Formats: sequence, C-alpha cells, structure tokens
Amino acid sequence: MLSTADALATLLGAAGAVLGKETLPTLEALNRVLAVDVVSPLDVPPMHTSAMDGYAVRIADLTQGERRLPVSQRIPAGHAPQPLAAGTAARIFTGATVPPGADAIVMQEQTEAAGDAVTILHMPKAGEWITAQGADIRSGAVILPAGTRLTPQALGLAASVGCAELSVVRRVKVAVFFTGDELTMPGEPLKPGAIYNSNRFTLRGLLEKLGCEVSDYGIVADRLDATRATLREAAHGHDLILTCGGVSVGEEDHVKPAVEAEGRLSMWQIAMKPGKPLAFGAVRRGAVGDVSDVGAGAADTSTPNTPAETFFIGLPGNPVSTFVTFLLFVRPFLLRLAGVRTVTPRALSLRADFTQSKGDRRNEFLRARVNPAGGLDLFPNQSSAVLTSTVWGDGLIDNPPNHVISAGETVRFIPFSELLN
Ligand code: AMP
Ligand code: MG
Repeated sequence: MLSTADALATLLGAAGAVLGKETLPTLEALNRVLAVDVVSPLDVPPMHTSAMDGYAVRIADLTQGERRLPVSQRIPAGHAPQPLAAGTAARIFTGATVPPGADAIVMQEQTEAAGDAVTILHMPKAGEWITAQGADIRSGAVILPAGTRLTPQALGLAASVGCAELSVVRRVKVAVFFTGDELTMPGEPLKPGAIYNSNRFTLRGLLEKLGCEVSDYGIVADRLDATRATLREAAHGHDLILTCGGVSVGEEDHVKPAVEAEGRLSMWQIAMKPGKPLAFGAVRRGAVGDVSDVGAGAADTSTPNTPAETFFIGLPGNPVSTFVTFLLFVRPFLLRLAGVRTVTPRALSLRADFTQSKGDRRNEFLRARVNPAGGLDLFPNQSSAVLTSTVWGDGLIDNPPNHVISAGETVRFIPFSELLN
C-alpha cells in the first residue's frame, strides 16, 4: 500500500505543466491565480501622510517653549501643501500630505484652537502620527508573487499600487462523471436498490469553490462501452477527467479497464481511511477512429497533459471517501496545475477530548469538531458512507497508522476552512 504522502508527491510531481494565461480587470480576478509577479511601480503611501486630524508642527518650535502657534495653512486630503513656515502650525486632516518642514502631527484632541491660532498641549515625538512615504510598499517591490491565489485583500493590495488589470492563469477545465447503476438524481423517484447521487453535488461544489470550469457528463451506466465512450469525449477540451465510483476491482467496476483501453492507469491502494482505492492516469486525446484530433504532439504519451493526453483521477464512490480524497489529493493537484505554490493545508495542533482505544493500520482522517473548550470532539460514526459526519465536523484529524488517541493528547487537525477555500 502507498502512503498518503507518497501518493500526493506523485500527483504533484505530475502536475507540473503550466496552463495558459489571460488578462483580467483587477475587479474580476477574485480567486484566480496570478500568472506573473505584481511589482509596485510606486511607493505606498506615495507621500508622507497624516494619520490623524490635527496640526502639523515643527518640533523645534515647541522645544523652544512656544506652545501657541499661528495656523498658517489648512491641508485637506488630496490637496498639495505649502512648506510649513517656521513658528506656525498647519491644520491637517487624516490622509492629507504632511507639509515639508513639519516633523510631527499633534492630534486635535491634544490642542486648543482659538481664532487663527492653536495651543499645543502635548509634546510630540519626531514622526508622531506621520505615515512615512513607502511605509507600506517600496517602489520596485514584488507585492504579490506569481502563483498567489487572489483573495479580496490581494486585489486591494494590487489596486493600491494602481494595477487596473492582472495576468492570471486560465481556469482549470475539469470533466466529471459518475458511475453506478444504483445512482438516481434527486427529483426522480427512488427505485428499489437505488440511492441518490449525492457525490455529484459534493464534487461540483468542491470544483466550483476552486474556480474550475466544469463539464458534467452525469451518470454513466456501469458498462465498459459506455465508460469508454464518455472518456473519449471528455478527453477533449479538459485538463482533468474526474470520476467517482467503480475504482475497486469488482466485476461491476469498469473504470479501470476503460481507462486502460483509452490511455494508461495506475491503481493505487493508499494506506488511508476513508478512501483506500484511487486511480491516477491519463486518457489519450484523439483515440483510434477520431482522426480529427490526432495533431501535433499526439504521438507523445509519456508526458502527461501534453496535447496528447488529459489527466485522469478516479475517486472511490463512498461519499466520505470521495470528499476526503478530493480534499487531500485532487484539490492540491488542481491548484498545482494552475501554478499555485503552497498547496498543502495548514494544520493545527489541538487537544483530543476523546479516547480512541483502537488505532488502524492505515492513516485515518477522522471527522471531528472543535468544542467550546477549544478541544476536539469526534463524530461517533466514522464510516466512509456516513456523509452526516462531514457536515457535523469542522475538519479532519490526521491520525498516523496504528496510533491510539488518548484524551488530552495533542493531535494534528486540518480545518475544513483550510481545505475548502
Ligand atoms: P464504488 O466505489 O462504485 O464501489 O461505490 C462504493 C459505494 O459508494 C457504493 O455503496 C455506492 O453505491 C456508493 N456510491 C458510488 N457513487 C456514488 C455517488 N455518486 N453518490 C453516492 N454514493 C455513491
Ligand atoms: Mg460502483
């Protein structure tokens, strides 16, 4: 059996290919991945600014004992000041440019204005309430490196240096389909032996959250010919084909022979629970009989994701297995395809407020919840078919093989907030 770390390393190693880029208005680039570094063309703030409503002063005037100063100018934000005449103060407002010659701002609460003069009640330190030019960003600095996922605050930062457009990686295109004759769509009556196709909803939501472009081929019958036909169709125009179910080796599991016939496949037994079986491979584009697509690079099947192939990942069908294997393997794979550097979620060290007297020989990913005391509670039923656990929980405890968890012990907890962003 393969360890979770080795399985992830193999996937990330294969996902090195870089997708094309496009230019978007900064306002439309939320959640996209930066294709090139953003370099600031200016200092931020671009000049010394006042951080308070108050008075700009020369400290030397105050140290000479003079506390009552005539007000020589008024500087609202957005207006260029005159140099500050010695022996005077300037009325100034938050965000306004500090006049040359002034070396501190005294907040208005520490002054007394009377007519055309102001009395300074506080002795400021040099630079007090002045935000220096370039205090946040220096001209020429890389403020956002390529590979950054654009959060709202990253868009704000890009805008603060005047970027109206950003170069981003194009969206990853993913084809999905679901195997299993027992699957029924919500809205249709449930025949005997049938279950609802819950994974379609989970996976579509997960892919949408990652910003993928999704083609959904729906439920594909548990037949070799139908599975092969869908693979052939989905190989065009996508970076990844993702399937769910049918990756065990029962005779009703046709994904394995279908991908082998249409490309190449490794069947992995990963030492993890839930989600042992996972299939990784690639499907040829322009298979026999599809002359139109046999083009440049079509002969090269050794390098994944050349124009000749589309990546393939087959997830196990049990709903919790689908969810967990997506989060641990497919999510980092898709992020890396898009050029994201940091794809591993940050884990927390939290106290287990439960005892699990039996370890498992596999690496367990236990659904747990943070309790009001700051420790972790465990969902009582950890079966890979119990989807309830994924809604109840706040994240996964990453429990190493054969490890018994005693109450009070610190465990590695990966919050869903890290895995679902
Ligand atoms: P499989 O991986 O095809 O052997 O399926 C394992 C279990 O997951 C079976 O109980 C299936 O009925 C169930 N399952 C497979 N696909 C789905 C799906 N799309 N939604 C919900 N359950 C599924
Ligand atoms: Mg099945």
